Amino acid sequence: MKSMKLTGIRKMEMKEVPEPVLVNPNDVKIKMSVMGICGSDIHYYTQGNIGSQKVIYPFTIGHEGAGVVVETGTAVKRVRPGDLIAIEPAMPCWKCDQCLEGRHHTCRNLKFLGCPGQSEGCLSEFMVMPEESCFPLSGKLTPDHGAISEPLAIGVYAVKKASGVKGLNIGILGYGPIGMSVMLAARAEGAKSFYVTDKINPRLKIAGLEGASYTGNPLKEDVVSGILQNAPLGMDVLFECCGQQEALDQAVDILKPGGKLIVVGIPEFESWSMCVETTRRKEISIQFIRRQVDCVEEALEKMKNGTINVDIMVTHRFPFSKSKEAFDMVAGYNDGVMKAMIDF
Ligand SMILES: [Zn+2]
Ligand SMILES: [Zn+2]
Repeated sequence: MKSMKLTGIRKMEMKEVPEPVLVNPNDVKIKMSVMGICGSDIHYYTQGNIGSQKVIYPFTIGHEGAGVVVETGTAVKRVRPGDLIAIEPAMPCWKCDQCLEGRHHTCRNLKFLGCPGQSEGCLSEFMVMPEESCFPLSGKLTPDHGAISEPLAIGVYAVKKASGVKGLNIGILGYGPIGMSVMLAARAEGAKSFYVTDKINPRLKIAGLEGASYTGNPLKEDVVSGILQNAPLGMDVLFECCGQQEALDQAVDILKPGGKLIVVGIPEFESWSMCVETTRRKEISIQFIRRQVDCVEEALEKMKNGTINVDIMVTHRFPFSKSKEAFDMVAGYNDGVMKAMIDF
């Protein structure tokens, strides 16, 4: 089969490799239909690592996928050949303390698709995954919905960790696919209004179309005063969704006393700094987010019943053979790209 491999910084080559085979009785072989490019894939593409997680070349990235089941192990019950499925990229051990506590996203032995040292990613024609990672797509759900269920699940989870957003003013700093997923999930939970910033104007335009009360570009204006002019008491909950130091600084200024800061963004640096003076005086609660746990089904269900509509998230599509073009476009934030999809 064909597999697109990272072979160096900003280097990608199509290789011919053997098709993966079923090993365990709960294994499912999947023919890939579509893959979404994630910001974390871009970190591996442009710098070869995320923190201590370093790519050893050649390596296949990608973890936002959907496909068709082609073969199942003897113990598989959840899916059958021919089923269209969303792939949940996390493969926990289900045995460690974290797994037993229901925190299988922080499993001590976690294998995550497209994560160096854990598992090759899904930028290949075929994949084998455990059945626990396969979620059937029913009703009007398409392969795109399947692939988007991964980032959307992070939005759903981040909103859950804010423990209640109904009727509240929500700030979202960074409106890429994750920021957008947070907004869609928070709106589905009854949040009142959204104050959104991003450095890319086409993304702000999408936020506006989605009903944001305020959108601002920090490269062009003072977004802290922009938001506080519109909401003088400050934000109840603020989601940092871009992994930038300046956004964390702005967050603390924009939040009201007693507000909640939910940090979803993945920074390229290793340590945040924090204005202790303001954070402490305002008694801000800080919650970091590590991907998501058990939110894929809910994300799929909300897209299926129309509570969440992700249609305008996908802005670009590329064939599998042009994966490199797709990665270059996303890495350069070109052409107002939000989510780019690879079609197999
Ligand atoms: Zn992702
Ligand atoms: Zn575990």
